[in-house]
Amino acid sequence: MLSSFTRYLLEWYNPQARPLPWKGIRDPYRIWLSEIILQQTRVEQGLPYFERFVATYPTIIDLANAPDDEVMKLWEGLGYYSRARNLLAAARQVAQEHEGVFPQTHAEILALKGVGPYTAAAIASFAFGLPHAVVDGNVFRVLARFFGIDTPQDSTEGKKRFAELAAELLDRKNPGLYNQAIMDFGATVCTPRNPGCKNCPMATECKAFQQDRVDGLPVKAKKIVRSERFFHYFLIKNSDQVFIQKRGPGDIWQELYEFPLLETEDLADPVKIETHLATWGLGGAQRSSQLTQELTHQRIQAQFWEVKMDQIPAAKPAQWLLIPQPNLEKYAFPRVIQRYLQAGERQLSLF
Ligand code: SF4
Repeated sequence: MLSSFTRYLLEWYNPQARPLPWKGIRDPYRIWLSEIILQQTRVEQGLPYFERFVATYPTIIDLANAPDDEVMKLWEGLGYYSRARNLLAAARQVAQEHEGVFPQTHAEILALKGVGPYTAAAIASFAFGLPHAVVDGNVFRVLARFFGIDTPQDSTEGKKRFAELAAELLDRKNPGLYNQAIMDFGATVCTPRNPGCKNCPMATECKAFQQDRVDGLPVKAKKIVRSERFFHYFLIKNSDQVFIQKRGPGDIWQELYEFPLLETEDLADPVKIETHLATWGLGGAQRSSQLTQELTHQRIQAQFWEVKMDQIPAAKPAQWLLIPQPNLEKYAFPRVIQRYLQAGERQLSLF
């Protein structure tokens, strides 16, 4: 017997109302691709990326065989690059461990790199009709409001309570439809700000609405603390070439490219910059643009410096790569560097 919440939701849901290329299909590869892209990304922003990935890699085997740099380049601008690395790792996992056939059980799907409980439930229910409820920010919000739950959603107790409730409410005969409905309801009606309570079919039974607590729910225990970091990027260039390097593991933007970098504790003064450049046998840095990029837990202040070189510096670090300037567009860079490059070829043509 379905709960009144589930009945309201299914009566409200019209699968045709918000058509998207990954909705209503059974192809696990495309569903998985869309779910990874949509983690941390709005539909409007993710849609062109989904289309490019499907066009470039029509099957999971095509993706598994793709070079790492090519996949990172296709992902460029979408952020949270660990998703792209995991995407590739999972595609190779499917190719090697499952003979190229996307796994069909919840446990095997959950074992894929980069696939957490939410994504596993989405793929399992959409592609294979398995009874697993999705639980994400949308679901926390809708359930917290409808049932008037003020247990913090990010506490251990909250996570358990919401997961159990979500599982109870699931329409086990139509898990895919139910999961899609609650996600769409959270994204279009019960939104974080200005939810459509006036026209909401659940309003008469919604605790938050009835008790005027909509703005106070859901509750989160932890506030995000964002640290400040100061990056100095050096555009070290001769007549038509420039140095770049690949970022290594253990920090943000792993496997993306960047210009040679000095990270400091604060906005370093030009003397410090010159002292550092001298260790590479370079000097004469000219200050260029300063740009900021906000990440979930970090705020990056990037200062760009232009450095002219007459010859390859003897103390050049091994990881530096000298490339022709027009080739910059072939490499995937963090958003802050892309913005710097897009702000004008002027920075590079100044030399
Ligand atoms: S009445 Fe408002 S808060 Fe309650 S479920 Fe509907 S949109 Fe959400």
